[in-house]
Amino acid sequence: MDAKHVYVHVPFCARRCSYCDFAIAVRRIVPVDEYLDALDREMRIRIGEARQAPIDTIYLGGGTPSRLGPDGVRRVLDIVRARFPQSPGVDVTVEANPEDVSPDAASRWRDAGVTRVSLGIQSFNDDVLKWMHRTHDASQARQAAATLKDAGFDDWSLDLIFALPPEVERSWTEDLNQAIDLGSTHISCYGLTVEPHTPLLRWRDRGQVHEADEDRYEAEFLEADRLLTTAGFEHYEVSNYARPNRRAVHNSAYWQRVSYVGFGPSAHSFSSGAHRRWNAREYVAWRDQVLAGRDPVEETETLEPASVAIEEAYLGLRTSTGIPINPANASDFNLWRDRGWAVVVDHMGRLTPSGWLRLDSLVAGLTDVRSRY
Ligand code: SF4
Repeated sequence: MDAKHVYVHVPFCARRCSYCDFAIAVRRIVPVDEYLDALDREMRIRIGEARQAPIDTIYLGGGTPSRLGPDGVRRVLDIVRARFPQSPGVDVTVEANPEDVSPDAASRWRDAGVTRVSLGIQSFNDDVLKWMHRTHDASQARQAAATLKDAGFDDWSLDLIFALPPEVERSWTEDLNQAIDLGSTHISCYGLTVEPHTPLLRWRDRGQVHEADEDRYEAEFLEADRLLTTAGFEHYEVSNYARPNRRAVHNSAYWQRVSYVGFGPSAHSFSSGAHRRWNAREYVAWRDQVLAGRDPVEETETLEPASVAIEEAYLGLRTSTGIPINPANASDFNLWRDRGWAVVVDHMGRLTPSGWLRLDSLVAGLTDVRSRY
């Protein structure tokens, strides 16, 4: 296995948020022992007991990994470390919901080797949080931030959601300012999308809410860029902002197309720049497969060179690194630069925030150009 990055999907949530279509399992009581047993078995089936090369990051995502409790988080990390030794300075990130961040949990995560926590805050407006079906309120979010700092976490991130329906009263500027005031080292801002099988889709289909229009989306995206970069954050990826040297190391591996391996329901793995596989999506299907001694793989894919090139362009342009200028894309970048959508520095072309708003169509344009050469 050539992966330097390990992802573990922990699917459990107390309830489904109104907009969420992630691979989750709603459980009032989390079956911690059953999940950990299945996770250990998946690793045994896929890689045996052999020690792998040292890894640079471990990421517990979900779902809500913090619902495993402090002891459950430690046991997941023990299972990973039994096969994957850690490089010096390893980044160990755990996603958490604010209501799970108690002083006891935070200090035990630190003792277990967690170096970074990603908090799902989404908004500081209690009415908005209720509309989202979140299980915390704004005061719990602020308390969680204080608890993390008291426990000694000097690297932590928070998530916010923008472009809410116009029927939902919310000040995006106020939420951004409160996020900045909390003192996190990293902020992710995701635009709301209406996904299948969600309460939000039903509300929209009944006409109770409408999707934010393009003007609102653009205004809020650019407002985040303006406020967060003024506050000293670097806008280094479409949805992500970091204090200096605080970029998300694990997620950056995805955008750089380096190898990673994922375990747990729906987890994806990627190797050798072209091979991808993903696990059975539903918790019960994944669990039953591994308990029966079978690899829980749902599908594999090998990318053709043309698909690799498109993916390199798409992922490269998502980030502030950009992609190399070459004869096939130089005229596009010149056009985009004239329109304020891109800059070219040291033979690398990268998108501006206005360009990021057009990412999909710009990459599609590049793909057309490539097919002409
Ligand atoms: S907590 Fe996260 S993963 Fe769970 S339902 Fe809400 S948005 Fe989805």
